[in-house]
Amino acid sequence: MENVIDFHVHPYLSQTECLGMYRESFYLDPMEARRDLEESGIMHICGSVIENGTYTSDRGFEYFRELNRKALKLQEIYGGFYTPGIHVHPDYVKESCDEIEYMHGRGVRLIGELVPYSHGWNDYSCRGLAEILDTAEQYGMIVSYHTMGEDRQIEDMIAGHPGIIFVAAHPGQKGDFLKHIDRMKRYENAWLDLSGTGLFRYGMLVHGVNEAGFERFLFGTDYPICNPRMYVQAVLQEHISDEAKECILWGNARRLLE
Ligand SMILES: [Zn+2]
Repeated sequence: MENVIDFHVHPYLSQTECLGMYRESFYLDPMEARRDLEESGIMHICGSVIENGTYTSDRGFEYFRELNRKALKLQEIYGGFYTPGIHVHPDYVKESCDEIEYMHGRGVRLIGELVPYSHGWNDYSCRGLAEILDTAEQYGMIVSYHTMGEDRQIEDMIAGHPGIIFVAAHPGQKGDFLKHIDRMKRYENAWLDLSGTGLFRYGMLVHGVNEAGFERFLFGTDYPICNPRMYVQAVLQEHISDEAKECILWGNARRLLE
């Protein structure tokens, strides 16, 4: 298993954007982090750059633009190893749409992971986001979003933009995972990555594949928050077919990113 695509990473240029919870004792520089991931079989990563600490609105959209530029910088450093994801913000509709246009021109096709809880907003069905998603849909962007808030809001977002592939982050505990599965059954554009909480509950993936097929699950870790090898091994240990494992670990992501 040496072709794994990790759809959910938060890469960093410096400690400021390193989300590792024990970074005061354990910090790898960006090239060491790449080797660390490769040693787990992960040969490609996707995701947004997130800063430690809290965003305050006086920092304006410039705050997100800077994070997005850091993602481009990392893409330069990492070359083909990294697919950048960008931030948008519903309080800055025009700036966000301009940013999508600009980034699309630089080859970027991924928005997120969106993390509203640390960026001062909380409603996936708000008007500002709906307008931004209209633009995202025109540009054929994929949207990765942190699962939170009311189910109805998530549902409205997914149903309102059938042309966008929405990748939910984190299966969560059983109750949340079953809601993901339910959405995947009802909406063809609802996908799920396996990062963060969930995969340590043995049998989760068997159940998900039985219910929703394997075509819309994406491997993910949430590195550097989570230990990447644990996630690779967890998928391999699940009692699903080899074909399903290969699709989840890299095939589905490759199809999505092409
Ligand atoms: Zn994340």
